[in-house]
Amino acid sequence: MDLSDTPEQARHRAKVRAWLQEHQHEAPALQGEDEPAIIEARKAWQGTLAKAGLAGVTWPVEVGGQGLGPVEQVIVNQEVARAGVPGVLDVIGVGMLGPTIIAHGTEEQKSRYLGPMLHGDEVWCQLFSEPAAGSDLAAVQARAIRQDDGSWRLSGQKVWTTNAHFAAHGLLLARTDGDVPKHKGLTMFVVPMDAEGVTIRGLRQISGEAEFNEVFFDEVALEPDAVCGPVGGGWGTAMTTLMFERLTIGLGSEALGYRTERFAVAIAGDERARADPEVRRRLGELSVELLAVKFSGYRTLSALQHGQIPGPEAGLAKVTTVKAAIEAGDLIADVLGPDALEADSEWAYMISFLPGLKSAGGTEEILRNTIGERVLGLPPEPRLDKGIPFSELRAKERAAVSS
Ligand SMILES: Cc1cc2nc3c(=O)[nH]c(=O)nc-3n(C[C@H](O)[C@H](O)[C@H](O)COP(=O)(O)OP(=O)(O)OC[C@H]3O[C@@H](n4cnc5c(N)ncnc54)[C@H](O)[C@@H]3O)c2cc1C
Repeated sequence: MDLSDTPEQARHRAKVRAWLQEHQHEAPALQGEDEPAIIEARKAWQGTLAKAGLAGVTWPVEVGGQGLGPVEQVIVNQEVARAGVPGVLDVIGVGMLGPTIIAHGTEEQKSRYLGPMLHGDEVWCQLFSEPAAGSDLAAVQARAIRQDDGSWRLSGQKVWTTNAHFAAHGLLLARTDGDVPKHKGLTMFVVPMDAEGVTIRGLRQISGEAEFNEVFFDEVALEPDAVCGPVGGGWGTAMTTLMFERLTIGLGSEALGYRTERFAVAIAGDERARADPEVRRRLGELSVELLAVKFSGYRTLSALQHGQIPGPEAGLAKVTTVKAAIEAGDLIADVLGPDALEADSEWAYMISFLPGLKSAGGTEEILRNTIGERVLGLPPEPRLDKGIPFSELRAKERAAVSS
């Protein structure tokens, strides 16, 4: 976003830019063959950024953040992208799970976990999705049972868990009461990823990366103080995480680098494509969509800067950005032909990675449904599970389907 900075913001930008110029030679590569070495280097770099005040920009000062606003966070994102260096490695921890612990955690949890998270010493993962609970997150079946001594036993399976293979802790949504409606019987836990009974298996994506995993829990023992937020109030805790997920994706979308200029450069070298009205029309259309995202991003930012929480319409930015970038990938593939898919081409990576982003952080259909219902006031989807205890749900659903 080309923000017109206030004098204070301009000073902040100048300070960030000067620091990055001085330190960019210390930055590690973004990716590479030796994944464990890259991860260690990026953890250390996150620590360097945190010490310089460039991580946890919006976190309160009491927990080690800078206590600044979302505009200052966007300025840091922009300057990091401009310097061509990696940003924070643990975006999920610092952007979503840390703010959840700040909002719902105990004082002990805040002082134990937030510092090492911010400085990259301990990476975190988000253990929400399951094979039968993605869009319908409140259907989670991983179960935690309270023991007589107040500790918990956790069993179940999570999936699509980004970074679980090098995470120290995870924030996990589990069912603790099956006798109440599904949104009410959930509790959030902090889970050490090296606990006995935790098994992590990598899943390889079409892009060649293996950033996410399936994670199995077999009678994992959790201390009473592993609970984050109220017992039975896990849905509210999860909503805080998902709100910060939306903000992290929304505010960071520029940093993903999906800019019209970048796409235009890719096809500008081809003389015939440059003169082809159809190519120009397709590029024009997706540019307009990205421009709309940019200006609605300004709206989100100014709402945030005035202390308001952006509404569900903020989800449109993700839907539109991903849609426009997929269209750009298709256009580039049409113009460059097989060259676009060469192994080390940035376009091959983008084309194979983007379809997954349609699901991450809320699928396109779910975001559109939410906008339909909550912004446009369209009739809500039929819901068969309202008010029914989770333990009776499958039987009722089966009966409804067969009748
Ligand atoms: C790159 C990536 C990283 C991820 N990282 C994490 C992570 O770290 N931690 C984590 O917990 N999860 C993670 N996820 C999981 C992500 O949150 C889920 O993919 C998402 O919630 C969708 O769930 P699902 O994949 O089970 O799809 P499903 O919910 O099974 O949906 C399948 C299809 O059905 C459609 N659909 C479902 N319900 C409806 C409806 N009511 N109306 C219309 N259409 C519907 C969906 O839109 C989708 O197209 C990640 C996903 C990706 C792609």
